[in-house]
Amino acid sequence: MDLIISGGQVVDGTGAPPVRTDVLVRGGRIAGLLAPDAPRPPAEVLDATGLVVAPGFIDLHSHADFTLTGHPAADSAVYQGVTTLLGGNCGSSPFPMARPSGSGSFLGTRFAWDWTDLAGFAGAVAADPPAINLATQVGLNALRTVVMGPERRPATDEELDRMRALVAEAAAQGAFGFSTGLIYAPGSYASAEEVTALAATAAEHGLLYSTHMRNEADQLIDAVTEALDTARRSGVRLEISHLKAMGPANHGKVRRALELIEEARADGVDVAADVYPYTASSTRLTSRLPGWALDGGDGALLRRLGEPETRARIAAELRARFGRDVDPAGVVIAELPDGPYTEFIGRSLAEIGEARGVDPADAAMDLLAEHQANVAIVNHAMAGADVATVLAHPLVSVASDGWTLKPSGEGRPHPRSFGTFARVLGRYVREDGLLTLPDAVRKMTSLPASRMGLADRGEVRTGLVADLAVFDPAQVTDESDFTDPWRLATGVRHVLVNGVPVLRDGTTTAARPGRVLPRTT
Ligand SMILES: [Zn+2]
Repeated sequence: MDLIISGGQVVDGTGAPPVRTDVLVRGGRIAGLLAPDAPRPPAEVLDATGLVVAPGFIDLHSHADFTLTGHPAADSAVYQGVTTLLGGNCGSSPFPMARPSGSGSFLGTRFAWDWTDLAGFAGAVAADPPAINLATQVGLNALRTVVMGPERRPATDEELDRMRALVAEAAAQGAFGFSTGLIYAPGSYASAEEVTALAATAAEHGLLYSTHMRNEADQLIDAVTEALDTARRSGVRLEISHLKAMGPANHGKVRRALELIEEARADGVDVAADVYPYTASSTRLTSRLPGWALDGGDGALLRRLGEPETRARIAAELRARFGRDVDPAGVVIAELPDGPYTEFIGRSLAEIGEARGVDPADAAMDLLAEHQANVAIVNHAMAGADVATVLAHPLVSVASDGWTLKPSGEGRPHPRSFGTFARVLGRYVREDGLLTLPDAVRKMTSLPASRMGLADRGEVRTGLVADLAVFDPAQVTDESDFTDPWRLATGVRHVLVNGVPVLRDGTTTAARPGRVLPRTT
């Protein structure tokens, strides 16, 4: 049956101002935009009186490829109006490897992990279809893990050829991009040359290159320069992930980073960036350790933590970053597997050190040693003014860097999974006026769609797929925060995925119309 979204103001995703139009949905597509007085076919009506009708939001930077099968209803995303996620970011993808490396227990992963390629992973997702769409990228950490293991050394020519072949295979199976996370072992062991060679293969196949850069603190500008050089030399389209500057000494550097991006664009480099609207990041505690300590993987790190002298060296190198890009009062434990110290979830390294009468770096070593190196953190390290500067830039998309989570759970995950899109619409559009509503919607829809090369989504236009978000611009609010993160966003009324309502009148339906999107060019 046809469906008409009636009475709303259409914000079409291009940045154009709102237009009072009804939207006709037929066969999963937008079949027409109907003037208020135009005749209409018999149809089911979704009331949007007083509401905004926008394209469904496209989250360009998600890690939900590791959570969607554990929670296919994807509530944390659906309640924000998100209809498509791009996974495989920060070098981390669920293929071509056969097993995940350490992941937080709130991820709820339910994979059998019996595949070795994207086609196998897509089959596992399709076996229990999600509410929303997932697009994929292949990550350097997964490639290196499969081909080389967790070793800290350059790839040989033969290993590089094998990784290039795996990028080509992922492209042939429908991946949208290739990604790196150059602070994370083993991807961090790759030289700029190795990354450029892989990016060249990605470019040959039309893929996007998404990078969590080698440094987001003292060497931020060097890292932006490396990423832009990779794009210049390989010809790849570049997405700089979650652009930010960490540590008080580095606040303000995002302005120079944005200038470098603009200059590269003027030179013909196809580059853009994305941001999440928070002054804290979230990652694993191991990412703050020196690269040599992680050589050989988590098992090797744990052996080193068992040797008093080596452990003292690791702690000393972490301590040397305090006051620069790591603030022991800003690093808060988000999640620990069961075991000792779980009472410290939600507390900072400084607080834990004080409570236990040890130095914060030693407290970090104890947590890692007792929890198989699997310690998730929230890291308060950015400036609010920088977040606003990046968010306001016309080349920057809104993206969560989050997961799809259930409405309730354990631990203190970063609120970005629940609130990113609602927070931009509530705080930065309605309250602060940093962005106009049409521009904010553009940054959540047509801009990320264009970065992905997703031609049939991202706008409210006749003929495109009916991925739609209907929300109240006066009400939309991120309810999740750092102390009480397990709260769904409010103010989004209806969400359609592939033409099917997954949220209706503010409540999820049982529908699971989502799929793994293949790249089609
Ligand atoms: Zn990242």
